[in-house]
Amino acid sequence: MSATLWLVATPIGNLGDLQPRALEVLAAADLVCCEDTRRTGLLLHHAGIKAKRMAVCNEHTEHDLIDRVLGVLDGGGDVAVVSDAGTPGVSDPGERLVRAVVETPHAVSAVPGPSAAIMAVTISGLDTSRFVFDGFLPRKGRERAERLADVASERRTTVLYEAPHRALKTLADLAEACGPDRTVVVTRELTKLHEEVVRGCLGASDIGAPRGEYVFVIEGAPVDDTPLTDDDLQSLLTEAIASGMSKRDAAAHVAKETGRSKRDIYQLTLGV
Ligand code: SAM
Repeated sequence: MSATLWLVATPIGNLGDLQPRALEVLAAADLVCCEDTRRTGLLLHHAGIKAKRMAVCNEHTEHDLIDRVLGVLDGGGDVAVVSDAGTPGVSDPGERLVRAVVETPHAVSAVPGPSAAIMAVTISGLDTSRFVFDGFLPRKGRERAERLADVASERRTTVLYEAPHRALKTLADLAEACGPDRTVVVTRELTKLHEEVVRGCLGASDIGAPRGEYVFVIEGAPVDDTPLTDDDLQSLLTEAIASGMSKRDAAAHVAKETGRSKRDIYQLTLGV
C-alpha cells in the first residue's frame, strides 16, 4: 500500500483488547498522532513498543497538524492516529485529518477495533438492524431541545454517549422527551472491572449514583400506522414550537417526521 494514514482503534478499558495489527502499525508509523502523548506512550510501553515520533492531536491542534501529516505522507511515510480510547473519529479527533488526506493520492485505512457505541448497541438486546449514533447531546438550550425531539421521534435505535456528571439529567430529559415507557439500556464501564448493563424503561431506570463512562441505547419510537389527523399534526407543531423552534423550523421538522409536504404543514402553523 502507498503512504497511508491509519486510524487505529485502541482499548476502551481492557488492555487485552489491544490488537497485534494495531501494534504493528503503531510501531512502524513514522508519526503517531494522539490526544495525550503520555497516555499513548504508556499504552505502547505496556505492549513493549515505542513510537518513532508522536504529535498531539486534539480538537485544538488537529487542524494545524494537517500540513505536518501531509508532509510525512508526501515523503513516503505512514501516519497513525489514535485517541485516548476506542476508535479515532468517533466523538474523538481524526475526522479532519481523514478529510484532508482523502483529497490527496495517499491512502486512508484503519485497524478497526473497540468502540463503546458498537459494543453498547450490540449487547443492548434492542433492534440492531438499523441504528443511529448521536454522539453527545448538546449541553443546553434550543440545540439540546431539538436533538431530544429528534431522539423522541427517531424510529431506529439511538446510541448516545454521556459523561457521568450529566447521566442523570440526560436520562430525565430523555424520559420527558420520549415518554416514560420507552426502553433504555444504560451501559457503563464497558470491558472494565465494573462493567454494568441496566435494562429498563426511561421512567423507571435506576442507575444509582453515576460513576464511570456511559453509553445509552434507546429503543426507536413505536411505529404508529394510524393516519395522522390535522389535530395530530397541530399537536406535533405545538410541541416543536414549545421546544424552541421557529414556526418554519417546526414545519420542516414535522414534515420530515410525518412524510407530509412542508408547504401543507406550514399552512397549519398559521393556526398555532
Ligand atoms: N472514540 C471513543 C469510542 O470509539 O468509543 C469514544 C470517545 S468519547 C470522547 C468518550 C465517551 O465514550 C465517554 O464519555 C463514554 O460515553 C463513551 N465510552 C468510552 N469508553 C467507554 C466505556 N468503557 N464504557 C462506556 N462508555 C464508554
